[in-house]
Amino acid sequence: MTLEQLDKKYGLQTYNRNYTNFVKGEGSILFAENGDEYIDFASGIAVNSVGHNNPVLVSALQEQVAKIIHISNLQIIEPQAKLAEQICTLANYDGAIFFANSGAEANEGAIKIARKYGETKFDKKRYKVITLEHSFHGRTITTVKATGQESFHTPNFSPYPDGFSYVSNLDAVYESIDDETVAVMIELVQGEGGVQPFEKEKIQKLANFLKEKDVLLIVDEVQTGIYRTGKILASNVYEIEPDIITMAKGLGGGVPIGAVMTKHKDVLVAGDHGSTFGGNYLSTRAGLAVLEVLSEMDKSGKLIETLAYFTVKLKEVGDKYSNLFTEEVGLGLMRGLRAKNNEIMKAVLSNCMEKRLIVLPAGKNTVRFLPSLTITADEIDEGFKRFEEAISSI
Ligand SMILES: *Cc1c(COP(=O)(O)O)cnc(C)c1O
Repeated sequence: MTLEQLDKKYGLQTYNRNYTNFVKGEGSILFAENGDEYIDFASGIAVNSVGHNNPVLVSALQEQVAKIIHISNLQIIEPQAKLAEQICTLANYDGAIFFANSGAEANEGAIKIARKYGETKFDKKRYKVITLEHSFHGRTITTVKATGQESFHTPNFSPYPDGFSYVSNLDAVYESIDDETVAVMIELVQGEGGVQPFEKEKIQKLANFLKEKDVLLIVDEVQTGIYRTGKILASNVYEIEPDIITMAKGLGGGVPIGAVMTKHKDVLVAGDHGSTFGGNYLSTRAGLAVLEVLSEMDKSGKLIETLAYFTVKLKEVGDKYSNLFTEEVGLGLMRGLRAKNNEIMKAVLSNCMEKRLIVLPAGKNTVRFLPSLTITADEIDEGFKRFEEAISSI
C-alpha cells in the first residue's frame, strides 16, 4: 500500500492532509522523498522554533536520550526544574510552572487553577471564564467550549462544561463580568482566528481593570510564546503581568510540551493536578536547548534583525499584490496577509505548495506565515521568490 492508502485505511481521517512524504529537514528547508526541496514558512504550526535539524537541539536530545528519557513526576527531574527557572527568569516573571504535553492541556491547567482560585479565595464561589470571539484554546471538551467560535461547539460533542461564555471584542469584556466571573482568557495575537493582534493600550487597560476587580487574566501564549512575537512572551511585548500564562508550540522545538505558569503559586497543592509524561527529561531538555538558542539570538540582536527583514519582504509583496490582499497583519514572526476572500486564500495556499513553499491558512481568509525564528535571509529571499511565482498567476 502507498502511504496515502495506509493513512486512509488505518488513520482516523480528522485532517485534510497533503501526502508529500517529507523525510528530512535542514534549517527552513524540507526535503521530500522524491528529492524536492520545500521552503518552510510554517515550522509545523509555529513549533519548529529553531528550525529543522538544529545542531544545539539535536545534540542536547541525543545526549539526553542516551542517559534517561523518563521517570515519574514523583521524582525530581533536573531539566524540568531548570527549564522552569529559565522561563521565569527570561520572562522576568515571579511565578511557578506546571509542565504538560500540549497547548490544550496547558490551558486545562490554567482553567483548573482559576477554578480553584474562585472556589477558595472568595466568600461566594466564582467559576465563570470569559473568552473572546475568534479565539482558539484547544481541542479537549473544555478548551473547545472555551474557544470563542460557535462552529467548535457542535452538538456532536455535547454536553459541554458550564461556565464559559465569549464576547465579541475586548470592550465587551467589561460589561460581561459579574460576581461569579473568575477569569478572562485571551490571546494577545489571535492565531487561528486570523493572526490578529490586539492594541497594547487596550490590553493594558483591561489588565489593570481585572486586577482591580480581582478577576484573573489568563493569557494563552501557546502560539505567541517563546520569542514568536519578538520577546520570550508576548506578555513582555505588551508589558503586562498576567495571573496565568500558558505556552506550548515553540517551546520544545518539535518535542511535545506544554506549560502553565502562574504567580498564584499556592493555589494548587499536591494531588490537585498531575501528568504522567508532563515535564519529562526529553521534553524539558528540548526546552532548555530551544531557550539557549533563542535567548542568545535575542541578546545578540539577530532575532530583531530576522524579524525586521521578514517584515519588509512581506510588506513588499503584500503592497505589490493589492489585487489579492487587503492588509498585512500580525506581530513578530507571526504574520499574515489578509486575502480578499476565501477563494483567493485557497488558491494562494495550493499554488504555494505547487511552487514548493509551505504556508498556512488562518481564519476564513488569512494566509499565515510562521517561519522558524532561525530562518536565514537566503531562505526568506527564496521563500518570497516562490511566493511571488505562486501568486502572480492568480
Ligand atoms: C495551538 C493552540 C492551542 C492548542 O494547542 P495543542 O498543542 O494543539 O493542544 C491552544 N491555544 C492556542 C492559542 C493555540 O495556537
